[in-house]
Amino acid sequence: MVDAVNRAYLEKQPSRFEFSIRGASERHLQAFVQPLPKSVGSNDVLTPPRVLILLEDHTRARRAEQLHRDFVANASHELKTPLASMTASIETLRGPAKGDDAAYERFLGIMAQQAERMRALVEDLMSLNRIELNEHIAPRDAVDLSLILEDAAALAEPGAKPGQARINLAPLPPDLSLRGDARELTQVFANLMNNALKYGGDGKQIDVVPAKVAPGSSRIGISVIDRGPGIAREHLPRLTERFYRVDVPVSRNKGGTGLGLAIVKHVLNRHRGELEIDSELGRGSRFTVWLPKDDAAKGRLEPSATALLQGLREDGLRGIASSDDKE
Ligand code: ADP
Repeated sequence: MVDAVNRAYLEKQPSRFEFSIRGASERHLQAFVQPLPKSVGSNDVLTPPRVLILLEDHTRARRAEQLHRDFVANASHELKTPLASMTASIETLRGPAKGDDAAYERFLGIMAQQAERMRALVEDLMSLNRIELNEHIAPRDAVDLSLILEDAAALAEPGAKPGQARINLAPLPPDLSLRGDARELTQVFANLMNNALKYGGDGKQIDVVPAKVAPGSSRIGISVIDRGPGIAREHLPRLTERFYRVDVPVSRNKGGTGLGLAIVKHVLNRHRGELEIDSELGRGSRFTVWLPKDDAAKGRLEPSATALLQGLREDGLRGIASSDDKE
């Protein structure tokens, strides 16, 4: 920076360069240093030369690029593993296991399992993509949360009746009105119930109950509670990151893709909601989804794209804030 400023003063040369500041979190900046012409009629002796310095913070853009690169690398790796297993099975069936009926059954079983794993991964990747595309558009449909929870339980526990099965749905307060995207919210609760079934300890009951709120609160909370092994505290902040798992083999064995909670987070961002995770080792976990009630939602939700465009025409750029993506 000092060199660039000197060059601008002494040699009248502009510069443009990038640099990083290391600290608790690294920041990436771009600098433009430009000598300014003396203003017309100024006194050469008394007016000092002037230099314009412009600093742009590129930290967010850099982080987004890095996240994108990591995401592509992770997704490719996740697909490569089942693909390698399928290729190995085909080679075994064509070679050493040729004509062996028992091996035939076993390897076809492995191939079906790996194909299912790839299907689940591609489906989750597509869901995530679809949700991200719509994330800035607030959902407007009125939804019935009780129906959504019933559908989610049926999805999470295929073939079993939710009431009789291990998922226990508690009744919701009667005067509940919510705006949302029914399909996305069903996926949120199905993912949480599915996790509770996968990691919540075999045969143990899972409760889906309304969370306690202060009287007059403008939001509603639904908790999915399991009595499984729980999650150590250090993992909690990272659980909603794409492909983050506490135990990779356990997740894979249970058909996990590592994307379930990332999907939950993005759907809740769109709904101006929140996911709260409480867990204690040895006792179980509670995943609470918080959603704004309809009245509160009306005031807080961003205007629709049309209203926003109309506002832009009228007001220029005033009032448009960038959304804060913490990921
Ligand atoms: P996955 O497809 O691996 O289940 P998720 O994004 O849904 O991916 O969850 C991320 C990780 O969080 C899981 O791999 C698991 O380690 C942990 N996890 C999620 N839900 C629970 C739960 N109810 N109990 C214990 N661990 C859980």
